Amino acid sequence: MRKVAIIGGGQSGLQLALGLLQNNYEVTVVSNRTPEQIMGGRVTSSQFMFHDSLENERKLEINFWEKKCPITDGIAFTIPGPDKTKALFWEAKLDHYGQSVDQRVKFAGWMKEFAKRGGNLVIQDAGPKDVDSYSKSHDLVVVAAGKGEINRLFERDAEKSPYDQPMRALALTYVKKMIPRKPFTAVSFNLVPGVGEYFVFPALTTTGPCEIMVFEGVPGGPMDCWNDVKTPEEHLVKSKWVLDTFMPLEGERCRNVELTDNNGILAGRFAPVVRKPVCKLPSGGLALGMGDVVATNDPITGQGSNTASKAASIYLQRILERGNKPFDPPWMPQTFDIFWDYAQWVVRWTNSLLIPPAPQILQLMGAASQIPPLAAKIANGFNNPPDYSPWWFDQAQADNMIKRMAGSTP
Ligand SMILES: Cc1cc2nc3c(=O)[nH]c(=O)nc-3n(C[C@H](O)[C@H](O)[C@H](O)COP(=O)(O)OP(=O)(O)OC[C@H]3O[C@@H](n4cnc5c(N)ncnc54)[C@H](O)[C@@H]3O)c2cc1C
Repeated sequence: MRKVAIIGGGQSGLQLALGLLQNNYEVTVVSNRTPEQIMGGRVTSSQFMFHDSLENERKLEINFWEKKCPITDGIAFTIPGPDKTKALFWEAKLDHYGQSVDQRVKFAGWMKEFAKRGGNLVIQDAGPKDVDSYSKSHDLVVVAAGKGEINRLFERDAEKSPYDQPMRALALTYVKKMIPRKPFTAVSFNLVPGVGEYFVFPALTTTGPCEIMVFEGVPGGPMDCWNDVKTPEEHLVKSKWVLDTFMPLEGERCRNVELTDNNGILAGRFAPVVRKPVCKLPSGGLALGMGDVVATNDPITGQGSNTASKAASIYLQRILERGNKPFDPPWMPQTFDIFWDYAQWVVRWTNSLLIPPAPQILQLMGAASQIPPLAAKIANGFNNPPDYSPWWFDQAQADNMIKRMAGSTP
């Protein structure tokens, strides 16, 4: 039986681990937190996932929370105007709904399921020596430790990483009692030029259904405002202040909101980065990076969990296809390259929204408010960002797309 060790029990690590178990691999997952610590700990993400990623979980029959989790039918985009007006607005339905299950619920549940199905769950904060040691006892070591320090084993790929510092000050606020959006549930995305972005959508958390508020403040700007927040109560007050000040229409939905729990808050920042996929260990063994370890994106486009799920799906298929052949140096970068064929577009598209938008992006967003099929095209690209190529990135192609969509029926 082939032995695979996965360092990190998150979206990509556990999804891959459960897939390998189903195919009779001997799988070890190393997690630095127990399921109980995860459930009782702080939120880590807003983890909104689109159809293709949800399909990966359905195929493995690990979509345990699908029926309980609220569904989100579309995407709405607003640039607030003065007072309570909208300077720009469009909304569009997704072809298939999206969902967000709090990673505390999902990871704790998947970990328990992994152990129940015969997986070897090791609770350990793995350091470089441990990774080295797993490479001696296993046929393959995959490092899927997210933003954990251990990802430093993998060299930053400067060519693929245009930014070397955080591009947004981030915050999350999980709340209940928000007035639902009408006429359909949506990721409601708001952009205030020079200040930052705010998006909000329904989700399932440890206490039941909720809404997750995501704040993306331009560093040094007025939404980069979380440093002096000391308590959960102050975090909620600050969240409402941001909305009332910059997005009053969203503020109106939040008159009576309460935190879901004192751990339903987060503030921080990190630089987007792409890393080289293979690291050489002191004893001569190799480890392959997966998920955020190799491509950490800013959450502005809500792609990290989606990309991690797609990575796990590609890696699973590659491992199964490999049969009994060794997971050798050519196989490892080739596996990453297949992932990168997809992920490069996630990275490029996400990075395009972290700087003042190029003229064709402004034009596309403006035209979407007049051309519903274009709005639907942009909304559904979140499910598969390669679909934005080439028209998102090129003026002439954007012009063609606008003309084409204007001529098609909604
Ligand atoms: C504010 C914010 C909002 C976000 N919103 C979204 C969104 O709406 N949609 C979306 O798709 N993505 C979103 N993301 C990104 C998404 O959460 C991540 O990209 C995704 O979880 C990455 O999956 P992963 O498998 O690479 O790592 P993770 O899911 O982060 O899992 C890594 C696991 O490894 C463990 N670990 C770390 N170091 C070690 C170690 N040394 N030894 C053992 N275990 C270790 C960690 O505890 C963790 O459980 C958001 C992120 C943030 C910060």
